[in-house]
Amino acid sequence: MFDSHVHSSFSGDSEMNADIACNTAINLGLNGLAFTDHLDLDYPNFDIKFLIDFDEYDSFMDNLKNRFSSKIRVLKGIEVGIQPHVIDDTNKIVNSYNFDFVIASIHVIDGLDPYYGEYFKDKPSKNAAFSRYLSEILFALNNYDNFDVIGHIGYIRRYCSYEDKSLRYSEFCDYLDSILKGVILKGKGIEVNTSGFRTLGTPIPDLDIIKRYKELGGEIITTGSDAHAPEHIAFNFEEIKKALSELGFKYIAHYEDRKPVFEKI
Ligand SMILES: [Zn+2]
Ligand SMILES: [Zn+2]
Repeated sequence: MFDSHVHSSFSGDSEMNADIACNTAINLGLNGLAFTDHLDLDYPNFDIKFLIDFDEYDSFMDNLKNRFSSKIRVLKGIEVGIQPHVIDDTNKIVNSYNFDFVIASIHVIDGLDPYYGEYFKDKPSKNAAFSRYLSEILFALNNYDNFDVIGHIGYIRRYCSYEDKSLRYSEFCDYLDSILKGVILKGKGIEVNTSGFRTLGTPIPDLDIIKRYKELGGEIITTGSDAHAPEHIAFNFEEIKKALSELGFKYIAHYEDRKPVFEKI
């Protein structure tokens, strides 16, 4: 399997040494590892440490790829945080480098990252908070094309304080159908992010949403741990592989040179 979502020390919120990550992935028997460090333009409470020098990142990742080429496939990816007003500048940066893989994620809604809690203050209900989040994914999908998969649909679940932190298909079917149909129509994919297993007990998105994606004809699915530390690489991958197989998926994808490559489950 490939872990298509890990953060090296190039990301401001990760201190994972890229060589250690590769060696960990080799020891786990992975076929490949995609580094997807953060590009979140106009991130609120901006901290300089979140600014990646992409020239440096580009040459570092090419070098890493070569050094490990006989043992594991290293992929040069990026996780772009989309907000409506950063779309053009994000697009320019993505076009400036030959990335293998681009994840589009929503981390900031109306200038607030749910990570900090303030986002939830003026939302009277879970429905209001989650709907606003899903509408931003839909906006990104309708206005930005330069990506391969939508990252962690349900990111907001990690940081809400509701007793029930689930984002169920049945509760948000209109938004989710629009998102999933849009993804399929554009020939893009979704990722299943196993970081949810660590704190929520389920993947992000949850399996009912992945099931609906399959029903609608969705075929491209990548698996990512969102690891910021070596011990989280490929977290619960055997479990998710089994779950995807049970949902009827025959293949899991990863991206090389911005094209999906399918591996049989
Ligand atoms: Zn993310
Ligand atoms: Zn991430």
